[in-house]
Amino acid sequence: MIQATSQVPLIEVRNLSRAFGSRRHRIWAVDDVSFRVPHGDILCLVGESGCGKTTTGKLVAGLLRPTSGEMLFEGRNIWEMERSEFKRYRTAVQLIHQDPYASLNPMHTIYDIITAPLFRHNLVSSRAHAWERCVELFNIVGLTPPEDLLRKHPHELSGGQRQRVSVARALTVNPSFIVADEAVSMVDVSIRVSLLTMLGRLRKEFDVTFLFITHDLALAKYFAWDGRIAVMYVGSVIELADTPRLINDPLHPYTQALLSAVPEADPELTRSKQRIPLRSQDIPSLLNLPTGCRFHPRCPQFIEGLCDVQRPALVDTGDGRQVACHLVARERGMIK
Ligand code: SF4
Repeated sequence: MIQATSQVPLIEVRNLSRAFGSRRHRIWAVDDVSFRVPHGDILCLVGESGCGKTTTGKLVAGLLRPTSGEMLFEGRNIWEMERSEFKRYRTAVQLIHQDPYASLNPMHTIYDIITAPLFRHNLVSSRAHAWERCVELFNIVGLTPPEDLLRKHPHELSGGQRQRVSVARALTVNPSFIVADEAVSMVDVSIRVSLLTMLGRLRKEFDVTFLFITHDLALAKYFAWDGRIAVMYVGSVIELADTPRLINDPLHPYTQALLSAVPEADPELTRSKQRIPLRSQDIPSLLNLPTGCRFHPRCPQFIEGLCDVQRPALVDTGDGRQVACHLVARERGMIK
């Protein structure tokens, strides 16, 4: 068995790419993405819909095979693992889906849904033990009274309750890593905060490491203030930094534009905030990507003859963050 050490991150993706479609009409949903998530850390993937963040989450959760690149769990490429090792990885890494309506089988009771993985992985010895474990898990995720809810079907629960059931199901196998894909975006704003607080508690009390996927920078800021944010644009990471630095001092023009559109808690501040205008509102089609920097048709700081010709690489800026932008590289003396 492979032991995690402090040098080996729990999750690492290296130059991960995933294409869909035929050879003639290939689209790259994820294109050369690399990041590390050490044990206990939290990384948020943020970006507009269609930017590749959900596909990246599925690649990390082992639900999709990469077209190229590596997905490492405790330093081992998951697609080169032995069957038993892969099984251990699949229980250690759990995915919470965006849609609690679709992810729970409407034909089964909540008890059946929660206990299926418990019996499959021999984590309980009897039905009484399974019931006890369900009650324990429901208390952890704040579903009360458990005895009542366990006998119901998914359609008898509210959206927030269903998402808590999804979290409880993920916890049945004691995961060390959770990929939460837009886990709170389909529930009412009023219960979003309590769900986020519950997920944050799991991180601390149960030592769970997170990949938190969201289109909402404000949510990422709230959930991962002590973590890091990777901003994705059209399949690639264009800026990665620890959360306070990315929020307070974004370097990439796309991150700056995204942040300028985030409303503040104080309506006065929102009103006085200057929204950065983009040259175009259109997100490029994956079937017809722009040359050079993929953001150049929209970028207000675009440098003609450079940005439309050469694709900027994601480079370390020397202060612990990574940015893919010619302008930033030029300002920092990294290119002429
Ligand atoms: Fe804008 Fe050029 Fe930077 Fe792309 S590389 S974000 S077009 S300044």
